[in-house]
Amino acid sequence: MGKVYLTGAGPGDIDLLTIKALRVVQQADVIIYDRLANPDILQQAKSGCEFIYVGKKDSHHTLPQDEINELIYQAALKYENVVRLKGGDPLVFGRGGEEGIYLKERGVAFEFIPGVTSAIAVPEYAGIPVTHRGVTVSFRVVTGHESKKAHSQIPWENYKTDDTIIFLMGLHNLEKITKKLIEIGKPEDYPVAVISKGTTPEEKTVVGTISNIYEKAKDLPTPALIVVGEVVRLREQLNWFEQ
Ligand code: SAH
Repeated sequence: MGKVYLTGAGPGDIDLLTIKALRVVQQADVIIYDRLANPDILQQAKSGCEFIYVGKKDSHHTLPQDEINELIYQAALKYENVVRLKGGDPLVFGRGGEEGIYLKERGVAFEFIPGVTSAIAVPEYAGIPVTHRGVTVSFRVVTGHESKKAHSQIPWENYKTDDTIIFLMGLHNLEKITKKLIEIGKPEDYPVAVISKGTTPEEKTVVGTISNIYEKAKDLPTPALIVVGEVVRLREQLNWFEQ
């Protein structure tokens, strides 16, 4: 039976791949990868390595998670070194925990290999620090996806503080998110940024306020994340990558 490496691919820029991730990619017999993992990483694999894509393509849906779990397990029965490559960090909205549990229950050895998460690196490339002395003492990383549901699990009332809030998977819910923020009492002119395709040559950032960001940013291409907080203003001085 093989070993599975539940590996973070970083946020986009291939140079943000860790040395440990590169090492397992180079030794892999099979790489099972997502839409958000930079496909150029696959060029680092040895010849004969099998590639299995389990991401979304246009209108087609991602393979359901239970099928991905089973696919990884089957790969471990067949190969010695199995790499499961995911965008960012495997445990930040990456479902790596579910894959680890599935393998553990079947006696398959696995390792987590942390990746540089988009939640921090993408704002950083846009010149927005998630914390900044004198501005904010903490940050939250939140799913922007579940606000579609009738009963939100997000404790919105807790978000009245000045924490930086980073919403992942939220672009399609941007209007709802801004309405919620106003509902809990955030000022309408509170700073918000949306960053699309962060850390790649196509990175684009739109800066606005809670009241106008939806109109300004709604048509940006995905992947994109939303940053809410006073730290967004620091981009005026710290924007380095897009210049
Ligand atoms: N495990 C990943 C996050 C998975 S959720 C990580 O740690 O980064 C997927 C969401 O991440 C996307 O919907 C988007 O909000 C965000 N994301 C990932 N890569 C991004 C990028 N290059 N630019 C902007 N947002 C990105």
